[in-house]
Amino acid sequence: MQHEDRPAPSTTAPEGQLKALASLFDRGPAALLTGAGMSTDSGIPDYRGAGTPPRTPMSIDQFTHDEAYRRRFWAGARVGALRLEDVRPNSGHEAVAALEAAGHLTGVITQNVDGLHGRAGTTNIAELHGNGATIRCVPEGHRFSRAEVLAWFDVANPGFAERNDGARITPDGDADVADTAGVRVPICPACGGMLRPDVVYFGEHVPREVFAHAAEIVAAASSLIIAGSSLAVNTGVRLMHRAEARGLPVAVINRGPTQIDRRDSVTVRIEAGTSETFALLARLLGVVG
Ligand SMILES: [Zn+2]
Repeated sequence: MQHEDRPAPSTTAPEGQLKALASLFDRGPAALLTGAGMSTDSGIPDYRGAGTPPRTPMSIDQFTHDEAYRRRFWAGARVGALRLEDVRPNSGHEAVAALEAAGHLTGVITQNVDGLHGRAGTTNIAELHGNGATIRCVPEGHRFSRAEVLAWFDVANPGFAERNDGARITPDGDADVADTAGVRVPICPACGGMLRPDVVYFGEHVPREVFAHAAEIVAAASSLIIAGSSLAVNTGVRLMHRAEARGLPVAVINRGPTQIDRRDSVTVRIEAGTSETFALLARLLGVVG
């Protein structure tokens, strides 16, 4: 993960660019690919956003081979949950759901694990990196909700969450907790195995069926919109290549540079936030959010 200096956030896109974005829908519905920038207005910071320090996400090797990492993960998840109660879909998620309901989107492909597109009402979603609300055991794949597992954490670690309230929330929706030495890590009640979030960590691949679902969303579309992502993630680039191979126009909505800004396929480039841009787009297309 490299850290990039960012220009100051702009407010809204110029009208001409918004019209160019809206005109893509004359061809038919679009596929939408979203990244962390989509959720910053919901209070979840972006790994690469302006003003955030560089941070290396935990790798799956660290998680499975080092109990200290697992203690840190569960401690952070527990404290982060206190803050996540206030996290809600923003006006961008809501506008996207309205665009889908009106038939303007073939679906949403997201790199985010926060589940906010689904909570806003979008129905056809390919979650490339999984969903942090689900916990599964490593040996058998038994599945539980995060809330359920955190309740077990509280039984094993009474008073921990309250003592550590105030820790900084991270882009994973978790929190940086300083002292985790005494933390007791929850295990699978069905088989006693290690529990992990149902997300794709560094060093893991996007599940084949999830990629296939994302590719279907692109295959059914007349254009591809990439929003709130600098497209540093390889899977996003592969999906863009699928769109390019079919000659689809690509629109990029992002604060700050992306990997693909100068590609010929990018016919619309909007330097603005996703919340205001999708709200304006929905209005231009006559969709009420
Ligand atoms: Zn199990």
